[in-house]
Amino acid sequence: MAGHARGPFVAGNWKMNLTLAGAVDLARKVAAAGPELRPCDLLLIPPFTSLGAVGAALAGSDVALGAQDLFWEDAGAFTGEVSGPMLRDAGCAYVLVGHSERRLHFGETDETVGRRARAALKAGLRPVVCVGEVLEEREGGRTMARIDDQIARGLGALSRDEIERLVWAYEPVWAIGTGRTASPAQAGEVHAHIRRRIEEGYGKATASCAIILYGGSVKPANSYPLFKEENIDGFLVGGASLEAEGFIGIAREALRAYREEK
Ligand code: PEP
Repeated sequence: MAGHARGPFVAGNWKMNLTLAGAVDLARKVAAAGPELRPCDLLLIPPFTSLGAVGAALAGSDVALGAQDLFWEDAGAFTGEVSGPMLRDAGCAYVLVGHSERRLHFGETDETVGRRARAALKAGLRPVVCVGEVLEEREGGRTMARIDDQIARGLGALSRDEIERLVWAYEPVWAIGTGRTASPAQAGEVHAHIRRRIEEGYGKATASCAIILYGGSVKPANSYPLFKEENIDGFLVGGASLEAEGFIGIAREALRAYREEK
């Protein structure tokens, strides 16, 4: 195995959970673990309502702040939406784009995911772009074709510089919030495919530095063998990120696998 180009990257997507007090408490616990977890990149993604308070709790720590979505216009009559410049202003460095729950419940398409990714980049945010197949597509042998479509339709217009600022997240939809994780081999195969596509489009150097996260029922108990796959650079964690021990435990296990390569 060639080994990972960089330390693990672990992001916690809190979804529609936690009010202010709980959010701040969790953020403080993760921030306190930051030094022990170096060189792991840590990212917390709370709901919009707690971005300010969580950002304040993370100030001066190793932990970055991200948002769960954005709209593609900068400002205007778009009730209920939040823009890239607003997220930058709130202290975000990252924003999730194309999460399967946005695609499933809120009508996101590959094309609107692309518009959001471009808006994020324009605002100076790093988009964490989610791709992944539903169970029917996996069982029908269409996983790679689905991933290819998501990449081509959503991200085909991006330049090499822009692609280098993305974080990729492979999240098989059948594994999100279900307790059913992709095996390391299943996930590793799709991650290798994504890296190959990046290489074909943008060259070897860009592909080898790309951060490709796995998401789908990740827990401390399964993160070590997943990170052992050379193309899995870390995790996008939902449910298990709502407890400090779960999130920190995942980062520790990824780090253990990473250190064994050195
Ligand atoms: C997610 O929300 O991106 C996710 C992977 O959720 P969970 O870890 O709960 O499956």
